[in-house]
Amino acid sequence: MLEHDVIIVGGGLAGCRAALEIKQTDPSIDVAIVAKTHPIRSHSVAAQGGMAATLRNVDPEDGWEAHAFDTVKGSDYLADQDAVAILTQEAPDVVIDLEHLGVLFSRLPDGRIAQRAFGGHSHKRTCYAADKTGHAILHELVNNLRRYGVRVYEEWYVLQLILEENTAKGVVMYRILDSSLEVVRAKAVMFATGGYGRVFNTTSNDYASTGDGLAMCAIAGLPLEDMEFVQFHPTGLYPVGVLISEAVRGEGAYLRNSDGKRFMEDYAPNQMELAPRDITSRAITLEIRAGRGIHPDGSPGGTFVHLDLRHMGRESIMLRVPFAWEEAHRHLDIDAVDEPMPVRPTAHYSMGGIPVNTDGQVRRSADSLVEGFFAAGECACVSVHGANRLGSNSLLECVVYGRRTGKTIAGCVQNRKLPNVNAQSYLNAAKERIQSLLNQNGTIRIAKIRQEFQDCMSEHCGVFRTAEIMQEGLKRLRQLQQQYGQIYLDDKDTCWNTELLEALELQNLTIVGETILTSALKRQESRGAHSREDFPNRNDKQFLKHTLAYYSPAGIEIEYMDVSINRFEPKERKY
Ligand SMILES: Cc1cc2nc3c(=O)[nH]c(=O)nc-3n(C[C@H](O)[C@H](O)[C@H](O)COP(=O)(O)OP(=O)(O)OC[C@H]3O[C@@H](n4cnc5c(N)ncnc54)[C@H](O)[C@@H]3O)c2cc1C
Repeated sequence: MLEHDVIIVGGGLAGCRAALEIKQTDPSIDVAIVAKTHPIRSHSVAAQGGMAATLRNVDPEDGWEAHAFDTVKGSDYLADQDAVAILTQEAPDVVIDLEHLGVLFSRLPDGRIAQRAFGGHSHKRTCYAADKTGHAILHELVNNLRRYGVRVYEEWYVLQLILEENTAKGVVMYRILDSSLEVVRAKAVMFATGGYGRVFNTTSNDYASTGDGLAMCAIAGLPLEDMEFVQFHPTGLYPVGVLISEAVRGEGAYLRNSDGKRFMEDYAPNQMELAPRDITSRAITLEIRAGRGIHPDGSPGGTFVHLDLRHMGRESIMLRVPFAWEEAHRHLDIDAVDEPMPVRPTAHYSMGGIPVNTDGQVRRSADSLVEGFFAAGECACVSVHGANRLGSNSLLECVVYGRRTGKTIAGCVQNRKLPNVNAQSYLNAAKERIQSLLNQNGTIRIAKIRQEFQDCMSEHCGVFRTAEIMQEGLKRLRQLQQQYGQIYLDDKDTCWNTELLEALELQNLTIVGETILTSALKRQESRGAHSREDFPNRNDKQFLKHTLAYYSPAGIEIEYMDVSINRFEPKERKY
């Protein structure tokens, strides 16, 4: 059995920032990170547009309270306002801190960090490194892991959270290189496993965003919070779904329908293309439904709209959003200097996740915690995004709450002993699970079930939802879950068996999908990204509450938890 003081699952921004904080607080703490990818290949590396913080370099009128208000309004008042205050107050400090670690942010002519406009933010406050911000930050964090002596298990897949007597004691992990299994016991376990975009058929997320951390918690009997709130980013490149950053609109690009009209004037006349993502994604979907989408040959009635950068000019495009230009050029051979890009909404971000308090401690229920278990980043729900996240607030959350969680863990391990774990029984169970998948004598390919599942989620729990459509979705999902026992693996090898990993991930995807559908069905109102055609209004009286979904193979139980409201009273959202 391996042992460390702290084991962190996930090598993205949240996991790396937490690991550094622990080491900076007390270098004698033995910290390990395990990731199924190399840490630098975590999805954080793909983040483009930037990270919000009221540095006031461009807009001296800005302040943390304005940032907090924009975030709470953007969340449709479901965010916890104590958590948002921490996020926005600590933001300038974490940006400076990243700069000191070596992150190269884009600059103003006078040398200070540049800041740009972003959807739903009332001031120019997003710090960036061109449109490759995640790349710039993650590389520096990972370099610093080595410097501070964090042990990294790269390309190990975590199979199970060891949770006994309401205490997290470690994890069971599988080495992708040679199929060996290990139990790691630790005084503290942290999940920073990222999002679940692969639940849907069109997503901006990488292939590793399969919600493993969420599913492992659900299987261990822990609740998942606010899973109905899935962010669909308005500008996924059609048909591939990869992201065209909101920074492109922040720098002035237009959205146009088949008539060439900037249709956002009908939906958000003040903020136009910089309305929050939920509103913009709905606007695009409604334009397409009304027959004002565009076909690849340019005729009306198709399934995308245009993102038009032409008026920005070559120099500005190449300087400020070069990656967006590259993406359209690489995937579709489009030169955005002369041609508009075809875009439509793509599944992008998980507002919900593992419920945690503002110190990163995981909740067992509305009023109790799990011992020794922590989470931060996209897999966690603290909740600073409520029902809809504002762009450039997620990198910020990863760094602010990664740092805070690291600090809590550094304190907590001082008075804890390594737990007793019966490693052999966990290893036997893991071996059996893998062997039975390899031996399974089925006839169905993984890709077939996965595709049908992703299509089912996209059709039955997309931008717009109704009870009837979601009930059908749940029925279909259960049929697909039953077929899991009939999958067939061609690859029986022990070296880099990616087919086996896909089988494990598929099971996690369907658990996460079921939680999303059930939570969405129970929330009979429209709020933020959750848009019910059968309940079109927000209903604060009944649903100004966080959902807690408890999974079991027999079904999902739903409870509700209060929202922290201490500064901004809920109002109607207008942009
Ligand atoms: C294309 C794109 C652009 C974005 N742009 C922005 C932006 O400009 N601004 C912004 O604020 N936000 C942006 N976001 C959102 C933001 O990037 C993410 O929410 C954030 O980076 C998530 O970081 P994380 O550390 O929580 O997880 P991730 O970076 O996703 O890392 C997850 C880690 O967990 C590991 N892992 C997962 N499961 C397992 C397992 N079973 N075993 C072992 N390891 C596991 C993975 O290997 C990985 O290391 C963007 C997202 C996308 C997809």
